[in-house]
Amino acid sequence: MNIWKNQQLEHQQPTYLNLKEEEFQERIEKLYLLLKECRLCPRECRVNRQEREVGYCKAPEKLVVSSIGPHLGEEPELVGNHGSGTIFFSHCSLKCCFCQNYEISHLGYGREMTEDELASSMLFLQKIGCHNINLVTPTHYVPQIVHAIFIASKKGLLLPIVYNSSGYERMDILRLLDGIIDIYMPDIKYGGSEASLLYSNAPDYFDIAKEAVSLMHAQVGDLVVCDGIAKRGLIIRHLVLPYDEAKTSKVVNFVASLSKNMYINIMDQYRPLYQASRFPKIARKISYGEYQEAINTAVRAGLSRGFYYKL
Ligand code: SF4
Repeated sequence: MNIWKNQQLEHQQPTYLNLKEEEFQERIEKLYLLLKECRLCPRECRVNRQEREVGYCKAPEKLVVSSIGPHLGEEPELVGNHGSGTIFFSHCSLKCCFCQNYEISHLGYGREMTEDELASSMLFLQKIGCHNINLVTPTHYVPQIVHAIFIASKKGLLLPIVYNSSGYERMDILRLLDGIIDIYMPDIKYGGSEASLLYSNAPDYFDIAKEAVSLMHAQVGDLVVCDGIAKRGLIIRHLVLPYDEAKTSKVVNFVASLSKNMYINIMDQYRPLYQASRFPKIARKISYGEYQEAINTAVRAGLSRGFYYKL
């Protein structure tokens, strides 16, 4: 058997099954401690979520989940034949003014759930045939989620875990996720600080996302796909904004500098939702020409995976 085939087979087992139990528990303890003086994301609010204080994200101590089920609208390598097992978490630490899921992220729609219930939901998604557990906006609940993965792994969870985040992540937290997450799926929303300040109140977004994505890539590498299904690696998402407010060329050039083989989904579905209409430059959808220019920019940077290039 050749080395490539060996690597493929190795990747069929999710990484958290190789983590020693004591190591898993140690990391869970470290993560829960952070809730006392919350520093789960770069906002570093330092509120005590265990004493009912809430920070920028408005997330309480307990998990709040908006929906759970197979999702057929994700990247084809995640969806396969039976869907991506998606768990949408309520609240968000980035809170963009144009959020396409603002009822969940800004308004916090959802219901409280224990770690045991979340673990059971992961096992349910596995039972109905989903190809992965897709954690959408997980950053502010990482302690509870890692605990739930641990519980589910003891009860037979075998699916790869997808960490589907805004890209606004702390390095210390990502180091604690090493060996637990199989597939990172961060956004890179902006390639400049003006827009990230204006639309997400995060002037440091691109610097932080670049560091975070580099570490994610060092942990899991380029996307590995076996029989059409993603097993391990990095998927980057970039939503094209009107008037190139997202600074797409900065984003794709950074991505290409990490790896020309990087999977990047360049998305065209921007809609001026929630508070977007307050900002003239993002108060409309993007045009066909703007999207094509974004794709051309990615191709010029040497990228080719994750988007369609129409000649
Ligand atoms: S997760 Fe929420 S409370 Fe914690 S630092 Fe981030 S925004 Fe603040």
